[in-house]
Amino acid sequence: MSLRLSHQPFDLQLRNRWAISGASAAVGGKRVHPVVLVRLEDSRGGFGLGEASPSTQYHETVATVSRFLSLVDASKLSFEDLASSAAYLDSIRPMSPPARCALDLALLDGAARAAGVPVHRFLGLEFTEGRHRTSFSLGIDTPEVMAQKAADAVADGMRLLKVKVGVASDRENLAAVLGAAPEATLRVDANAAWTSREEALDHIRHLAATGRVEFVEQPMPPTLPDADWIWLKERSPLPVLGDELYQTWEDAARCARCVHGVNVKLVKTGGITGARIALESARALGLKTMLGCMIESSLLITAAAHLADLTDYLDLDGNLLIRNDPFTGVNCTAGLLGFDGVSPLTGLRVAERADL
Ligand SMILES: [Mg+2]
Repeated sequence: MSLRLSHQPFDLQLRNRWAISGASAAVGGKRVHPVVLVRLEDSRGGFGLGEASPSTQYHETVATVSRFLSLVDASKLSFEDLASSAAYLDSIRPMSPPARCALDLALLDGAARAAGVPVHRFLGLEFTEGRHRTSFSLGIDTPEVMAQKAADAVADGMRLLKVKVGVASDRENLAAVLGAAPEATLRVDANAAWTSREEALDHIRHLAATGRVEFVEQPMPPTLPDADWIWLKERSPLPVLGDELYQTWEDAARCARCVHGVNVKLVKTGGITGARIALESARALGLKTMLGCMIESSLLITAAAHLADLTDYLDLDGNLLIRNDPFTGVNCTAGLLGFDGVSPLTGLRVAERADL
């Protein structure tokens, strides 16, 4: 049964100003993150939902997503034949990974709903309740604001804080967070800010000396040669994870040489299907795995959570950073993700505010 596709832009409103290293920190951060919501439906009332969260970091916008979606002939898609549907979508150019992600989610969601099972079960995976704890991300801000955000997160039960760094005030910010959240474990994400291996090692040694940092994500630009990454990997006192370094499963061999683990995101890999391959490819090469996110609604976060059993670490908090989430999905109780009582089917449930 062929499908009908509809899509609409939706502005996610951030609870706080959001900045990471680079352009967004330079302009003081942003308050709105636009996404595109996607719905596929068949003629018998079956439907599946998806979301594209484009990031300018990856040269994607609502316009690139919308352009891809406008090229899709939905009559060539079906919930019954996911392989043919995927092959058709993969043939469309220019490719837009976030748009491809939204369609992958909608197809899987529709197929799993039709089968009457959660997405992870549909994929032959388990979801272990009580095991999956997400970190909570602190964007770059003043030391005072970062300390307040850390204290608020800890008051909400968060034990893992992911601190964004890459500005001149990093050490003051870090000290403020450490003081405000004395029990929390920190993860640090430089978003490629440190431009040489020596600079990166100096920062990582400082982080390690606090005794509170679990790992460092993307310390240097992915464009640096493997030799620099290998030099850093051999000397770093903390595990190094690649994010911008790991776009799809095809980067797994390079990451196995250059870092200790990888951050997989659905919007980079083109959805649940690509993320699963990226996680399994990384694990097969001995890499630690993390599932991460962009600023996203509960739809994308829930979709990612279905793959949690394939990970060592989770950073699925994009929905906690917004105040107009149009969906409800996976539960997050004091950082612990779970599907208990969420939905009889897919773990995705449209809240009343959704205008789809
Ligand atoms: Mg990152």
